[in-house]
Amino acid sequence: MIVVMKRGTTEESVQLMARRVEELGLKAHIIQGTERVVIAAIGDKRGSERDTLASYEEVEQVVPILAPYKVASREIKSEPTVIKVRDLVIGGGRIGVIAGPCSVESEEQIIDSAVKVKAAGATALRGGAFKPRTSPYSFQGMKEEGLKLLAAARDVTGLAVVTEVMTPHHVDLVAQYADVLQIGARNMQNYHLLEAVGKVRKPVLLKRGPSATMEEFLLAAEYILDQGNQEVILCERGIRTFETHTRFTLPLASVPYLKERTHLPIVVDPSHGTGIASLVAPMCTASVACGADGLIVEVHPDPKKAMSDASQTISPEGFAKAMDQCRIVATALGRQLG
Ligand code: PEP
Ligand code: MN
Repeated sequence: MIVVMKRGTTEESVQLMARRVEELGLKAHIIQGTERVVIAAIGDKRGSERDTLASYEEVEQVVPILAPYKVASREIKSEPTVIKVRDLVIGGGRIGVIAGPCSVESEEQIIDSAVKVKAAGATALRGGAFKPRTSPYSFQGMKEEGLKLLAAARDVTGLAVVTEVMTPHHVDLVAQYADVLQIGARNMQNYHLLEAVGKVRKPVLLKRGPSATMEEFLLAAEYILDQGNQEVILCERGIRTFETHTRFTLPLASVPYLKERTHLPIVVDPSHGTGIASLVAPMCTASVACGADGLIVEVHPDPKKAMSDASQTISPEGFAKAMDQCRIVATALGRQLG
C-alpha cells in the first residue's frame, strides 16, 4: 500500500506514521517526492490495515500497489531516481558514462585507462577485481590488489569507481574501495548477495541476468531496496536467445519499457550486449537515443592484449569517437552526456 501524506506534513508526523505502519507488522519505506511524502507499507496484509492507516488526520489517501515489485515501482514514486556519486550523475536527464577495462590487470593499465576514458568524457571508471569467469582456468582477477589499484586510479583522476562484488563475504571489503557496487549478471538472483548490498549505503549497479524476465529483474532490484538501499541502477547487458551472431542479444526496448514501470535509472552495457567491438559504438548511440540514463563500456589502452573480454573491448580513441556521437544524440534529445 502507498500511504500518501497530506502536503506540508511535518517530518515528525511522517516518522510517527512510519512507526504506526511498522506496528501493524508492515515494513515502512519513506519516499520523499518533490510534492509530498509517501510511505510504502510493504508486507503480508490481513485486510484491515488500509482502513486503519487511512483514518489518520495527516493521511490524504491509502492506495494499493498493483505491481509485484513495490518500492521499485513508478506507482510509488513518479519522479525519476537520480544517482550521484562524485562526478557520476545517472538519471534525471544526465547520462552517466562508466568506462574502463573488463579487468584490472596492472597499475599502469588501470591508471592509463582511467586518464584516457576521463579525457573522452567518462564520469566513472569500471574495472573488475573479482571476475566471474565461465572457465575456472581463466584469469580470475587481481582481487584485493585490484581494488587498491582502482582506488589509486580514482586518486589520480577523481573518477568514481564501479567494480563487481561476487559474494556476500566480500561486500564490506569491496565497499571500502568502490563508489558503486556492481552485481554481475550471473548473480542477479543471488538473493543473499542482493540483501547484503541492500544493507550498504552505496549505489548498486544491478546487471540483468541473461535469462531473466523484466519482472524477475525488477524483483531482484526490490531485494536491494527492501533492505533500505534506495540507490539501485538497473543495467541491461543483453540476454541469451537462439541468435549466435552476437555474444548476447541486446534488447533496447527494455529501456523505455523499464522507464514506464520503475523510477530507477537504467544503464546499457553494449560491450557484453554485443560481444563485438565494432558494434559497441553504434549501440552506445542507440542506447542514448532510446532513453538510457547511462552507459557502461569496456575500454582498454591496448584492446587486443586485454586479459578478459578482448573481442568486445574498444580503444580509448574508439571510445572518444563513440562519446562524440553520443553527445550529439543526447543534445538533440535535450539531455546531457556526462
Ligand atoms: C563485466 O562487467 O565485466 C561482467 C562480467 O559483466 P556481466 O556480469 O554483465 O557478464
Ligand atoms: Mn567483461
